[in-house]
Order: sequence, then C-alpha cells, then structure tokens
Amino acid sequence: MKKHATETQIDAAIDWIESVGFQAHPSVGTERTIIGAIGDNRGKEHLKLVEHLSGVEKTIPILKPYKLASREAKDGNTVIRVGDIEIGGTDFIVMAGPCSIESEEQMMESAYIAKKGGANIIRGGAYKPRTSPYSFQGMEVDGLKLLRKAGDKTGIPVITEVLNTPDVDLVEEYADILQIGARNIQNFALLKKVGKAHKPVLIKRGMMTTIEELLMSAEYILSSGNDRVILCERGIRTFETATRNTLDISAVPVLKEMTHLPVIVDPSHAAGHWKYVLPLAKGALAVGADGIMIEVHPEPDKAVSDGTQSLKPERFYSLMDEIRTLETLLASHTEVTQ
Ligand code: PEP
Ligand code: MN
Repeated sequence: MKKHATETQIDAAIDWIESVGFQAHPSVGTERTIIGAIGDNRGKEHLKLVEHLSGVEKTIPILKPYKLASREAKDGNTVIRVGDIEIGGTDFIVMAGPCSIESEEQMMESAYIAKKGGANIIRGGAYKPRTSPYSFQGMEVDGLKLLRKAGDKTGIPVITEVLNTPDVDLVEEYADILQIGARNIQNFALLKKVGKAHKPVLIKRGMMTTIEELLMSAEYILSSGNDRVILCERGIRTFETATRNTLDISAVPVLKEMTHLPVIVDPSHAAGHWKYVLPLAKGALAVGADGIMIEVHPEPDKAVSDGTQSLKPERFYSLMDEIRTLETLLASHTEVTQ
C-alpha cells in the first residue's frame, strides 16, 4: 500500500485479494502496510489488477518459497509482545529454566533462580521428546500446572514444548509461548495446529534441517494465521563429536537477512555441556540474535534430563552479569557508530 493509504483503501485491497481467491495477510509496519496475498499461481493475472485500486502502490511477486516469512512481506522486524517484554525489539531476551519440570519444589526454585538472575522468560518441559522410551517422559498436565504457577508467582511469562497435535489446546491454556522442538520441525499437522493458536510459537531448527527448511516450517505457522513466530537455532548434526551438536552461529546473520522474524539461540542443546554455554551465549549476542534460551537447574547433578548442559544457579548468575554487561557495551558502541 502507499505510505498514507487509509483504512478503507486497505480494506478494499484485502476484499479484492480475497474475491479473486487469495488469502490476505496484512502486516502493518511503521512506514506502510504490506498485504501478503497467498494463493495459486493461476489467479495471478486477476490479482495484479489490485494495482488499479486507489491506495495500492504496487504488487511484488515473492519468488522465494517462504513468502510471509520473507523480508519482502513486511516492513521492518517482527516484534512479539508477551506481557511486558518484547522479543525482536531492542532488548536481548533471556529464557531460562530446567529442561524438565520434575516437581513443585524444583520448578519453583528454578523460577526464583531465573527471576533473581533477571531472566525475561521461564522455560520448563512438561512433555519431553526422549530418545529412549525408558527415559523420563515429562509430568504432562501436572507439569503444565506447576509451570503456570511458577509464572504467576514470579510474574514472568513461561514457555513450554508441545509435542503432539491433540495437546495444543491444553498447552495453550497454561503457556505464554508454545515451543516446537527440533524433532517436530517437520510435523506439518502440528505446525498447522499451532498456526491456529493464539499464543506466540518458538520453533526450533531441526538437527538435520537447512535454514530454508526452518523458514518453510515457520511459513506453515504463518500461513495458518499465527503471525507471532520466533525462530531458534539450537545446533545441528555434523561430523564433530566434541559437542552434542554444532552451533550454527552463521544461521543468525543469514536468517536476519532472509526474514523479519526474531531469532533466538539455544547454546545449551548446541553445546551439550554447561562449560560452553557462556561463550556461545556471548557469541549469540555479538552476532545479532534477539535472545537466548538456556537450561538452568537448582541441582544439575540430580536433573532427570540434560543435567550436563544445565547451569547451576551461581553459574547462571555470572552468565547473566556477563551478558548484560556485553549488551550495554554493544548498545553504547552502536550509538557511537550510528
Ligand atoms: C528442550 O528444549 O528441552 C529440547 C528438547 O530441545 P530441542 O528440541 O532443541 O532438542
Ligand atoms: Mn533439554
């Protein structure tokens, strides 16, 4: 749309797009509104006639396979508000908490550790995708209730993974952000279902997926109607065995170029060991990620999952100190160079 297009003109353009058989996805930017028109190539000629309506500036075909996720589909970056916080805005967001929710005591303690350290979002898994069927599978709905309680007591929003399509409605009742795990990146039925949810979705890159495939999975969620999608790089499988996965740090600037969606880094699952979490977290901040997701546990030695990569409280507090210091430093440097 033109810069000063009126609401009536925008509505008329949307009506036209829909009348020729396309789905309209308007996105309101600071400068202008862009309306994504998703549909079959065959109706393209009719669609183009929308250019004759007043208020319409031009039509641009998006040749990339990811349409709504692409930078062309939106003016500026997507900023996702959850409570008082903004993901994709100017602040570096820290999501912290245990891999699994194990008990009331462990979850509440973790939440207070997250709060004391200054985390912006609390994580905790109630449904766990485990390699072995004999490993702890999660507390399920009881875990969701504990996570909600932890969020309410601390006043910090919570994120948790939803593993199965039939559980989406239930998880949505308790969580502020839904997480799609690495193993579910191409579970298309699940992606479509969270695309109908009314909560933001953080989608993790699969251990064997390309950056473009990650964006195509995000596209499933966006095209189903949910425009609040956060991407997460959590390490990919390579020949390297010194770390659990290989953190693809270059995915951050590459994604930033390709998409308007916020990008988060999970150094815990990438590294597989707490020792590497701090340097990788600093790397994430330095390359322009919008935040990190890290595993923190009151007693990592006793954790039922991912204890080796979980930070104990003191290590988490010192990570937060270093991250916030670096954040301030980078912000003042950006001001000077602008
Ligand atoms: C997790 O966040 O605990 C998790 C299972 O992560 P991923 O899907 O990245 O393996
Ligand atoms: Mn984990």
